[in-house]
Amino acid sequence: MINNTDNPQLVLANEGDKLALSQEQREDTTLDPYWRLAEYGKGGMVVEDGLLYHYNEVAGHKVKQLCVPSGRCLQVMRLAHDTVAAGHLAGRKTLERVRLNFFWPNMKTEIGSYTSSCVPCQLRARARRKDHVPITPIVRPAQPWVMCHVDVIGPIEPPSAQGHKWALCIIDDCTRWPAVDLLKSLTVRHSWSCFHLLVGRSVCVWIRVPVFAAS
Ligand SMILES: [Zn+2]
Repeated sequence: MINNTDNPQLVLANEGDKLALSQEQREDTTLDPYWRLAEYGKGGMVVEDGLLYHYNEVAGHKVKQLCVPSGRCLQVMRLAHDTVAAGHLAGRKTLERVRLNFFWPNMKTEIGSYTSSCVPCQLRARARRKDHVPITPIVRPAQPWVMCHVDVIGPIEPPSAQGHKWALCIIDDCTRWPAVDLLKSLTVRHSWSCFHLLVGRSVCVWIRVPVFAAS
């Protein structure tokens, strides 16, 4: 039996509790290697009164950790993290609290995973990500077609009846004027002639637009 206090500790109410726990420990295959270590007196593993323990050092204190069968780990983590007294401490602190009394294989990973997936903790977590790159506005050129952005869309399947399968897209930085033309291939010669054609055509339209608007 584990009591529900600030520090979860093992409270074996009677001999029956102890026998049941010892049985669970022996039937748990995840603890098999630790039983063997205890037989040879290695790794800080010991058997006392029929129960498997691990002698360890936590935060400079020598502690005797009860080896927890896998079926009981969730219960220990809940008590150490979720209860009102536990206070939903962070993963590292929850691990330290559990390690004062308990041990099981992969406990660090499991406790880290348990605390990081805790919904109340996620809801009250502060957004700590910092954007180290300052946002700077892009200076727009005062003249059209001084700077433009070019990209290619494709390959477009199926191609057009004339065999076009690429779209060359150009946007002028000054006016945001978009121009698109189709290409049959992405060779430098075809792309450049298309670019030249689009820029020339667009400049012409850009000049005429204010005239139409005024009229
Ligand atoms: Zn939590």
